[in-house]
Amino acid sequence: MSKETRRKFFSSLVGVAAGATGALANISPREALAQSGEADLVLVNAKVFTIDDRQPRAEAFAIKHSRFLAVGSSHDIKNLKGPKTQVVDAGGMTVLPGLIDAHCHPAWGGIEELVSVDCDLRSVEEIKAAIHKRALATPPGRWVYGFKYDDVRVREKRRITREDLDEVAPNNPVRIQHRGGHLCWYNSMAFALAKVTVNTPDPPGGRFVKRDGVLDGCVEERANDVFYAIIPSDSTEEQRRAGVALISKRMTSAGLTSTTDAECPPEYLSAYQDAYHAGELLFRIYILTQGYAPMRVALESAGIRGQMGDEYVRIGGVKYLADGSCLERTMRMSTPYAGRPNDYGILTITQDELNAGAEDANLHDYQMGVHANGDVAIDMVLKAYERVKASGAREPYRPRIEHCSLVNPDLLARIKKVGAIPTPFYTYVYYHGDKWDQYGDEKMRWMFAHASFLEYGIPVASGSDYIPGPYEPMMALQSMVTRKDYRGHVWGPNQRITVDQALRVCTINAAHASYDENVKGSITAGKLGDFVILAEDPHEVDPDHLKDIKVVRTVVGGKTVYLS
Ligand SMILES: [Zn+2]
Repeated sequence: MSKETRRKFFSSLVGVAAGATGALANISPREALAQSGEADLVLVNAKVFTIDDRQPRAEAFAIKHSRFLAVGSSHDIKNLKGPKTQVVDAGGMTVLPGLIDAHCHPAWGGIEELVSVDCDLRSVEEIKAAIHKRALATPPGRWVYGFKYDDVRVREKRRITREDLDEVAPNNPVRIQHRGGHLCWYNSMAFALAKVTVNTPDPPGGRFVKRDGVLDGCVEERANDVFYAIIPSDSTEEQRRAGVALISKRMTSAGLTSTTDAECPPEYLSAYQDAYHAGELLFRIYILTQGYAPMRVALESAGIRGQMGDEYVRIGGVKYLADGSCLERTMRMSTPYAGRPNDYGILTITQDELNAGAEDANLHDYQMGVHANGDVAIDMVLKAYERVKASGAREPYRPRIEHCSLVNPDLLARIKKVGAIPTPFYTYVYYHGDKWDQYGDEKMRWMFAHASFLEYGIPVASGSDYIPGPYEPMMALQSMVTRKDYRGHVWGPNQRITVDQALRVCTINAAHASYDENVKGSITAGKLGDFVILAEDPHEVDPDHLKDIKVVRTVVGGKTVYLS
């Protein structure tokens, strides 16, 4: 090792064990070892993409006390190996920082996987059969739940109806959630329990869909509130803990080391804590509580502000909803849907509610996230953020625009100016291509606008929104890089980004979205020891096959949580 390399190498040693950086600058490897103690883990012989501009590439790194201790060449890093150090030889494979999903719903997903009927089936008949089977095994009068229903991707090319559900479950109330979660379908018994008839007026921000003068079965957006009020919880405390454990296992096996619960009710927060204390929470979770709900009020009255928790479970902010769903074609736009000239989508909040929410979040030091898909909704959210910014926001002000699906140059400039963080869907272009026909090619040039955000200097983060979108980050890379759907149609090629840009979106930008850029998002000495080993280098794989890259190992805080 030359004197210069050695100086650089040791100057990168920081962290819990090593102490001050400068103290190690001019000492030998043996002395460094004596001061820092041996590393807990060293990874050598890898193609490391650090996502740290000061040292973009490396071959190796060491981890001590769950954090990166040093990053460099295999030769240098081996100096930190002691008799008890775990050595991982990557065999030349690609290593990335742990991948981060900046907007998803892991507890919801994990719990539904355990308790509800999986309706991710390709025909109405198959869905009916699955509901029938569950109804037969459920005592009369008890609810039957279904989830992941995709109304577009069924062979019959028609939606399921109230009558379909009556036919297969005459003795049980039934609720089937669309994959996006904003639309639900109910049978007649469920409508009767909720006391909703064909004459019930639609509430603000919601609709009971009618067909030929009768209830269709589909209930949109906030009209579901009357059902939520009467539906008993679909899970026990034990099932919720188990659901979190299950989903953290699945998501880490896909390469995710951190996720965000973008709307966490009290029972989910308890489930994360229960799984954590049971040693079953494998990823880190950043929490946005429900903006309108009692939990946020309870937290505030207990004096709990945002950014409370630890490196695994942290309460960061509050979440509101401004409009409908992108996937379910209810988001609020300034121009109508293709083939539906009078349909501009649904708003689910007023400007006054948004303004009050933004002021309250700022006052109590919560990061605010607002679900806003359509350009009209995004404009309203920005107005609320601009008011707070003008009257003295707590800095650094990083309010979030969840999804932020349809933009334009005016919105982009305002997002940049106010410092907002958009979190667009990152697996949608590929996986949900069949829905984009209803938006059309021209709108899709401005949807999930990763390239535009970057062009405007906006540190765009991104998320799967799982359940609505698949959570696999390798599919996200493919979707962002190719803009090609599963059928081969390319949507908005102007929004393609490079593999390097997409990797930043999934790492350092996602960390920045939760105020975590100093502790995660890159392989940098001092940061949390989260990383992933891939079987292939995404820079060298055919972009149409990025989603097939195998995750070989996922490590969180120096601990292997998944090994293929
Ligand atoms: Zn969401």
